[in-house]
Amino acid sequence: MKVLIIDDDPDALAIARVRLKPEELDIVSHSDATTAVEAVRRETPDLVLLDIDMPGRSGFVICNQLQGDQDLGRIPVIFLSGSTDTADKVKGLDYGAVDYITKPFDAFELRARVRAALRTKRLQDMLAEYAQIDPLTGVANRRGLERHLRTEWSRAQRQGSVLAFALGDIDHFKNVNDQYGHPVGDKVLQAVARAIAGECREMDLPARYGGEEFAVLVPDTTAEHAWALAERCRKNVESVGVSAENQSVGVTISFGVADSIGVETPEDLLAQADKALYGAKESGRNAVSLG
Ligand SMILES: [Mg+2]
Repeated sequence: MKVLIIDDDPDALAIARVRLKPEELDIVSHSDATTAVEAVRRETPDLVLLDIDMPGRSGFVICNQLQGDQDLGRIPVIFLSGSTDTADKVKGLDYGAVDYITKPFDAFELRARVRAALRTKRLQDMLAEYAQIDPLTGVANRRGLERHLRTEWSRAQRQGSVLAFALGDIDHFKNVNDQYGHPVGDKVLQAVARAIAGECREMDLPARYGGEEFAVLVPDTTAEHAWALAERCRKNVESVGVSAENQSVGVTISFGVADSIGVETPEDLLAQADKALYGAKESGRNAVSLG
């Protein structure tokens, strides 16, 4: 994991580096307080050790700026200070720092506090990741998909590229659950997720959108090309067989595909794909329709 030390005092930087060496961390340092926030953005560390007393901008102000930033607010900050004043410690923690270490550092204390902060950061990262994954199928859930959609949407706007989206719905899935029970239904959902994910490129994002609804976010691609991808997914799903009661249970899936050309918002892109999906269902199912 990566630790960024921000301190105007070169000696303090050197000492912290030496003290932390046994932890085998990727340690980077920065000494200019006025560009500290940019340094954090550039380095995206897992932990910031932040000196309070610096010319140009205090560590308190920098911590406050980090906390208010959407991307950087989750990075834990430990204050470093020569002040042993309780009021300063309280102020530091109130500014959102996870810990406060007084200089000169005791090597063991510094390392133990850094370890503790990194442990918490790792857990938070894991939770944030799990919160975006569908536990049954292992692909992204709706939250993960919508998050990626927002990111990819702004990237497409910035780069003038096209973003495509395919929305799929298993045909008559209720029959599977009714006839074979939910455990078999769950196996079918898992197999369908695998069949769809297997057709995706590294950059595509397959997701479980809802109960029996799946989606694929397809960056840098027009609807026509995403249609071909959805068609391969459809064929793959058709060949899925889950064994139950000495027979093979199969399903089919319908897709609606749309792209961002002439579309105003990510929500409208979803709505277009949804409309196309309705068309695929109307046309007799087990089909892919373009929006
Ligand atoms: Mg200083």
